[in-house]
Amino acid sequence: MRCKLVIANWKMNADKAAVAKLLAGYVDAINSTAKVVACPPAPYLFQAQQQLEGTAIAVGAQNASQFESGAYTGEVSLSMLKDLGCQYVILGHSERRSLFGEQDKDVAEKFVATLQAGLIPVLCVGETREQRQENETDAVVSGQLDAVINAAGIDAFAEAVIAYEPVWAIGTGDTATPEQAQQVHKLVRDKLAASNVDIAQRVPVLYGGSVNAGNAEELFGMPDIDGGLVGGASLDAAAFAAICAAAN
Ligand code: PEP
Repeated sequence: MRCKLVIANWKMNADKAAVAKLLAGYVDAINSTAKVVACPPAPYLFQAQQQLEGTAIAVGAQNASQFESGAYTGEVSLSMLKDLGCQYVILGHSERRSLFGEQDKDVAEKFVATLQAGLIPVLCVGETREQRQENETDAVVSGQLDAVINAAGIDAFAEAVIAYEPVWAIGTGDTATPEQAQQVHKLVRDKLAASNVDIAQRVPVLYGGSVNAGNAEELFGMPDIDGGLVGGASLDAAAFAAICAAAN
């Protein structure tokens, strides 16, 4: 059995008071057998780690530098994230790719560096609306995976999480149907299985893209969907708790 996992991506939202309130809401409301991870903005990671100490909720970052240290103004290193108590790092989110120019090569380097630092990478892959309309979904997702498999090796996925996030579904309210999502999740697993069947069976593959309390159960019920990466709905403790409960 693969473990179920639900990750909250707060993006660039909240302040000190809102972080405290939202995390208190998580602790009160979440009752799930799934592993739950909160990814607040980087300046609040320390606060989040302190508040979640002793709870079952882990802390993750939304991005990290592939470089160890030095003259990289504005960047945050993986050793810093580890020092703060982070366990997970989201990598290659479509907003990082489209707004900040991250290429497959950067994502692959970050993936390798994350594992070397002893953290768990959450590798995001997914196609744009135009790519789906052009029937390029399989090729795009395969290419994004290949970039990382070629750099890190298949064995590296034993300690990784993959999130399929169709770009057209992120923050739009346009969720992939459970069947559409399952089709790509199976593609992801088959792709890994071509190199290592055991790892393909073990790696959690999450769905992300307008997951909410109303659609989570059906999505998470699909055979290759092991939970979710949740943006907007994770900013509401009750809605997020309901999503986590759907991953039981
Ligand atoms: C995300 O940011 O990864 C995401 C899936 O956002 P939303 O749930 O708001 O679509």
